[in-house]
Parts: sequence; structure tokens; C-alpha cells
Amino acid sequence: MTTKPTYIILLGPPASGKGTQATKLREALDLPHVASGDLFRYNLKNETALGLKAKQYMDRGELVPDDVTIAMVLDRLAQPDCAGGALLDGFPRTIAQAEALDAALARQGLNIDRVLNILVPDEELIARITGRRLCRTCGEPYHMMFKKPKVSGICDLDGGELYQRADDTEETARNRLEVYWKQTSPLIAYYREAGALVDVDGNQPIAAVTQALMAAVSDLKTIE
Ligand code: ADP
Ligand code: ADP
Repeated sequence: MTTKPTYIILLGPPASGKGTQATKLREALDLPHVASGDLFRYNLKNETALGLKAKQYMDRGELVPDDVTIAMVLDRLAQPDCAGGALLDGFPRTIAQAEALDAALARQGLNIDRVLNILVPDEELIARITGRRLCRTCGEPYHMMFKKPKVSGICDLDGGELYQRADDTEETARNRLEVYWKQTSPLIAYYREAGALVDVDGNQPIAAVTQALMAAVSDLKTIE
């Protein structure tokens, strides 16, 4: 028996906890984690043409143009490991991206199953962004105050070195939040209208947010 692929979107402002929660959800749901920011950073690190194009926008905390972003993510979703669906993080971020994704899925008789809208107040987000550190190897997020690694500067999961993203400064953070409210927040109404949206309080301890997210997808797949 083949089951229909499952597509879940983690929606929420920068530093709302999408990456942190994706690590737990992807294991529970057995879905690949497709994060547009990670894809851009991979291309940046490897100095591909796509990475060079994206850099100027990322440095300013602005969105990379839709055509480039849509092509990159749809290409990723066509890879064999996404045959059963995906846990999308950071994409879509504009109505044009959401429509392109809907159209691409509809061509295969598929649709978005659930959109998890993570809510966190702006001032909390600034503190999360400026204290964020990431593993250079696996991308796992940590925080100087809220999620310290067991050994300072080292990833708990694979021993990788922790680093601070160049765009995680207070100035860029404020710009990214503005961009979120202007360009991305209209997606909340878009997906609410489609009947796919569930609001989740992201302003609680990490484990409590995980529980709320798990509850919001528990009907989609058997979760242990
Ligand atoms: P955060 O973790 O703070 O939400 P991301 O890692 O998702 O940030 O994204 C980092 C940067 O990559 C964004 O500021 C933007 O420049 C670019 N980016 C990521 N996803 C998208 C997208 N869907 N559309 C346009 N630009 C994107
Ligand atoms: P996003 O992927 O949405 O940009 P991250 O998962 O990278 O967000 O989280 C942003 C920062 O906030 C990280 O430093 C992370 O450790 C921290 N963080 C995530 N969730 C919480 C939470 N519930 N409470 C406090 N800090 C959190």
C-alpha cells in the first residue's frame, strides 16, 4: 500500500523556533527537513552561482527573489528522499511562493496537509536571534542563554563547532522582522482560508512547544 505524501509547513517569524522544532518533528513524522535558509547557506558555503546571487539579499535580511527561491525548493522536493513528502521550514515566505508550491503539488494531485503557525512576540525574537549559535556541520540551533550546549562552543549531536550567522545581528534582525510582517504574514490568512492552519504558542519552553506541535499533527501520521 502506498500512502499519499505528507507536506507540513513550519510558518513563523525569524527565530520563532522552526529549526529547533524541525529536528524533533522530522523524526516523529519520518519526513525530510527542507529548510530554504539551510539550502541557501549550503550554496553560499560552496560558492555556487545561486549562493552568490542569494548573498546580497541574505546579508541585508531581505528575501531572495521568488523565481530563484521557488526553483531551488521545488528542485529539492523532487529529490527521491522527498517522495513521502517533506517538513518545510522557511518556505513559502511570500504569497507568490505559496501559490507556486500549491500549483506544483496540485499537478501531482497533492496538497499541503498542515501549516503550523508559531507565534512569538517580536521582542522575544530579537533576544533569540542575537543569542543564536548554530552547528557548522549539522545546522542544529543553540542559544547562549536559552539552549546552551553541554560543552561550550560544541554541538551536542555531532561535536561540530558552533558559530554565529553573519545575519544574526540586532540591526538585520529588526529588518528581517519587518520583512516578515510585510511579506510573509499574509500567508497566515492564505492558509487559514485553505483550512490548513493551526496556531501554536511558540513563547513557551522548547519542550512545551514540541508537545503543542506534535498534538497539531498527531492525526496525520502515526506518532510514537
Ligand atoms: P531564519 O532562521 O532567521 O528564519 P532563514 O535561515 O530561514 O532565517 O533564512 C535566512 C535568509 O535566507 C533570509 O533572511 C532570506 O534572505 C533567505 N531566505 C530563506 N528562505 C527564503 C524564502 N523562502 N524566500 C526568500 N528568501 C529566503
Ligand atoms: P528559526 O528556525 O525559526 O529561525 P531557531 O530554531 O533557529 O528559529 O531558534 C532561534 C533561537 O531561539 C535559537 O538560538 C534557539 O536555540 C532559540 N529557541 C528556539 N526555541 C526556543 C524557545 N521555545 N525558548 C527559548 N529559546 C528558543
